[in-house]
Amino acid sequence: MFDLNNLLRENIKKLVPYSSARDEFKGEAKIFLDANENSYGSPLIKWYNRYPDPLQIKVKEKLQQIKGLPVENMFIGNGSDECIDILYRALCNPGKDNVIICPPTYGMYEVSANINDVEVRKARLLDNFQLDLVHLETLVDANTKIIWLCSPNNPTGNSLDREDVEIVLNNFPGLVVIDEAYINFSRYRSFVQELSEYPNLLVMQTLSKAWGLAALRVGMAFASQEIIEVMNKIKPPYNINQASQELVLKALDEVEQVNEMIRTIVQQREAVVAKLGQLPIVQKIYPSDANFILVKVNDAKGTYNFLLEEGIVVRDRSKVELCEGCLRITIGTEEENAALLERLREINN
Ligand SMILES: *Cc1c(COP(=O)(O)O)cnc(C)c1O
Repeated sequence: MFDLNNLLRENIKKLVPYSSARDEFKGEAKIFLDANENSYGSPLIKWYNRYPDPLQIKVKEKLQQIKGLPVENMFIGNGSDECIDILYRALCNPGKDNVIICPPTYGMYEVSANINDVEVRKARLLDNFQLDLVHLETLVDANTKIIWLCSPNNPTGNSLDREDVEIVLNNFPGLVVIDEAYINFSRYRSFVQELSEYPNLLVMQTLSKAWGLAALRVGMAFASQEIIEVMNKIKPPYNINQASQELVLKALDEVEQVNEMIRTIVQQREAVVAKLGQLPIVQKIYPSDANFILVKVNDAKGTYNFLLEEGIVVRDRSKVELCEGCLRITIGTEEENAALLERLREINN
C-alpha cells in the first residue's frame, strides 16, 4: 500500500544533498579551518562563531528519553512550519499533486500549499468538529499525497475520534500527518506510539505551546526512518541555530516544571469555562483538549473590539466557516484570565 518511492517527487529522489563542513568532518580536532568561521570569536561574552550541529543530535538524544522514540525517527524543524513546508517540497509536484485538509483547521497547511503551488482539497469537519470520512474519501485521487489532520484541532480545540483517524491511516496510501501541537493538554494519548504500526504516519509536535518555547522555533516530526531521511536531505543544513539548541537542551531537563504548568493551564481552562458559562453574552463554549477555548458570543466582532480597547487581545474567528460568531481565547495566567472575565462581565447585550 504505502510506498514512499511512489510518493516522492522525482527531483527529490535524485537529489544529492548539500554536504556541509560539519557533515564531512565530524570527529574531534584541535584546529578547525574547514568552515570559514571566525576563529577569533564573537563580539559576545559567549561565542557563537562555530556552525551548529546540522542534525541536532544532543537535542534528539534528550527527546529520545522523553518521547521513547529512537533518534532515527525524529526530525527537528525551525518550528512546525518548516516541517510542513518540507513535506510539500518532498512529496508534492507543483501544479499537479493535491493534499486534503479538514477545515476549520490550522492555516499553515493551506498557506504552505499555496506557496508551493499545490492544490488543496477541503473535507470540512462535521458540525461536531469530527472528520467527515465519507466526504474525505471522495476527494482522494491518484495525485493525493498528504492528508493533514490536527488533533487537538486548532481553532476548535477538540480531539479527533481515534477510530476515525485509524480508518484514514488504514485506507489512505499517501502520507497522513497528525499535528499534535496541543497534545500535552489533551486527555487522549499521542499517536507517536503507533509509528511502527503505520508506515504512512507522521506525527508533528512542537515546543511552542506546552513547553513555552515559541521564540526558539523548534518543531518536531516523528516518522519512519525513511521519511526522516528524506526530510533531512531537504532541510537547510543548519536549520536550528546554536542558541536554540543549547536552550532547548536545558529546557528539556525540566519535564516536571512543564508538567506542572500543563496541570495549571488545564485547571485554569476548566475554571474559565465554568465562569464564561455564567455570562449572558456567551452562547456556547466548545469542549477543549487544548490551551485555548472556542467561544460563541452574541457579538463576536463587538466583543473583540471592546476587549482590544481594554488591552486584551483574543483571536477573532467569527468569519471562519463553522466558527461563525466565535472567539478563540488562549488560557493565560490566573490574573490574566480574571482580567478577561471581569471585562466580559461588563458587557450586557
Ligand atoms: C501553534 C501551532 C503549531 C506550532 O507551530 P510552530 O511553528 O512549531 O510554532 C503547529 N500546529 C498547530 C495546529 C498550531 O496551532
